[in-house]
Amino acid sequence: RSKMAERSSHTIFVPEMMEDNKRRLLIANSIASAIKHDEFSIHYQGKVDADEVVVGYEALIRWRSAALGVVSPAEFIPIAEQSGKILQITKWVIKRVCMEFEQILAVQKNDVVVSLNLSAHDIKNASLVGYIKEMFTLYKIDTKHIEFEVTESAYLENFDAANGFLTQLRQMGCSIALDDFGAGYSSLGYLTQIDLNTLKIDKQFVDNLNVSKRSTLVTKTIIEMAKQLNLKICAEGVETREQADFLLANGCHQLQGYFFAKPVSLEELLKG
Ligand code: C2E
Ligand code: MG
Ligand code: MG
Ligand code: MG
Repeated sequence: RSKMAERSSHTIFVPEMMEDNKRRLLIANSIASAIKHDEFSIHYQGKVDADEVVVGYEALIRWRSAALGVVSPAEFIPIAEQSGKILQITKWVIKRVCMEFEQILAVQKNDVVVSLNLSAHDIKNASLVGYIKEMFTLYKIDTKHIEFEVTESAYLENFDAANGFLTQLRQMGCSIALDDFGAGYSSLGYLTQIDLNTLKIDKQFVDNLNVSKRSTLVTKTIIEMAKQLNLKICAEGVETREQADFLLANGCHQLQGYFFAKPVSLEELLKG
């Protein structure tokens, strides 16, 4: 390549990369102050059972930043993970959900389970188990109402550490769900080795139902496999009646998605 081409490619790409890096840095450096200034909140998305009755809520973090506006967790969670700030966020989420838990339970007719997402980075941190115990004791949480969602990536780096961490949560009485199953670096081998309660089928499979015969077949097979393994199976990202009907007809136990409920603030959840 000529000097010219090299220079012009630099002038095209460098500013964009700088903008991108600047934003990532700004996000990473804003996390501590976001906690301090109460910019985070939790939204709750209902999950329904086969009778389409709400049986749980997934806690999903939201960030309305004074400097950056609304920032999606899909953007800031990976940045928090890479910059070593995820543990602060996780602790904040656990504490906030514990604080709001009694109000949520009070407006339910049935038993519900509240699900919290853990990052793969969190479960390397053995001290987090102590923090979780402390919060459950402080806020008098009955652990039968708590589920933790983790992705398969949690197991990739250090299987024994992840398994040890999650086993302790199970021994406390919490449930464990494998999130986004089938997306990313799935290994069916994990399913034979880890003690799970629930498998959450990734939204991509739900999206592709009835789009292709093959993906419909794969989804059916995942549901069947989970049932054979005695796992509860939850489908995420259900947006249509047709998807819901297909999943229920094939024995899916729980459904979650905009068709049933969008994530809502605590205030909206309490209003019903
Ligand atoms: P996830 O745990 O797989 O959560 C599901 C995501 O799909 C949520 O996005 C939810 O709002 C969205 N969703 C649910 N139903 C539908 C639907 O029918 N259609 C569409 N298009 N989307 C749907 P959200 O809230 O933006 O969160 C994105 C991801 O960020 C989560 O994926 C999770 O990996 C992460 N995240 C969110 N909150 C937390 C948290 O408190 N801690 C950690 N570690 N990660 C979190
Ligand atoms: Mg989740
Ligand atoms: Mg998910
Ligand atoms: Mg997902």
